[in-house]
Amino acid sequence: MREQDATLQYLSERIDSLSAEYERAKSNTSHLHDQMESAWQSLHDLQEEYREYKEQASYEFQESQYCWSMHDGAGAKEHSENGHLLNEKKAGVSLYLDGAHAKFDSEKSEFDKAVAYQRGIKEQLDQARNEHKLRIEELKAQNLREQIHWKEKSCGRCGATIRYNDTWNHIPNYCKSCKEKMNAEREEREKKKAAEAAKWMEKPCKQCGRTIRYNIEWSNQPNFCPECKEKFEYEKREREKTDAKNLARDVEKLLFTILHGIIFRIIAKIANQNLKKNKKVRRKNKIIKEVRTINFALIIILERMTFILEMINPSTMMGMGM
Ligand SMILES: [Zn+2]
Ligand SMILES: [Zn+2]
Repeated sequence: MREQDATLQYLSERIDSLSAEYERAKSNTSHLHDQMESAWQSLHDLQEEYREYKEQASYEFQESQYCWSMHDGAGAKEHSENGHLLNEKKAGVSLYLDGAHAKFDSEKSEFDKAVAYQRGIKEQLDQARNEHKLRIEELKAQNLREQIHWKEKSCGRCGATIRYNDTWNHIPNYCKSCKEKMNAEREEREKKKAAEAAKWMEKPCKQCGRTIRYNIEWSNQPNFCPECKEKFEYEKREREKTDAKNLARDVEKLLFTILHGIIFRIIAKIANQNLKKNKKVRRKNKIIKEVRTINFALIIILERMTFILEMINPSTMMGMGM
């Protein structure tokens, strides 16, 4: 039963107000009834009095006639005077009788009106009570029809029973407590996300002024933007290449110096030995040929050494010539 039904509420209030009005009307009717009763009693008393005076006067006049017939003049006169006196009293009562009649009529009319009003209120009250009863029946029937739409299912998370109405636009999948939990979890996730986002800051690149995004938790806080950093790296690589080239050239020169020193020392030694042995001129030509062979062999060794250096550091030795 729906307590908040507007029609039922209205009818309840109407019954209350009509009941109160009916009680007031009933009390008014009863009061007017008493007044009418009292007016009727006064009228009745006066009518009795009037009738008694009339009867008594009539008796006195009969007695007076009787006295006349008996030639009792004094008796006849006395009875006649009594009769006139009673007639005067009767006339006096008659004056009050008209007023009492009018009063009774007016009281009766008031009472009749009050009774009619009370009946009218009673009819309205009965009608309101009837409507109230019908409305309750109607609501009961409606409630019964609605009960059909109430169904149950299990919560998708904890399995608890959920009651739902199949006419709802959105049929819940989770119970109230799970929904609250899920909402709290989502809030927690969003809070964490916001906290993570708050760790990301921005500042200008010290080189070009472009905005850099960085995380305050990074151990290395950047001062330059990726483009500037790339440029620095490129410049560093170029510098290192040049340095490596210079070093290779120095090593090459040194090797040449050392090897030429060794070659010439060997040649000189051989030439000296052969000169000392004092051999023939063709022997000299042979020596020259040998020297050339040794020199050629040394050049090949040097080339091999350069090749080894290239193997050790190919990037720095690239483009290096003998
Ligand atoms: Zn649940
Ligand atoms: Zn920059």
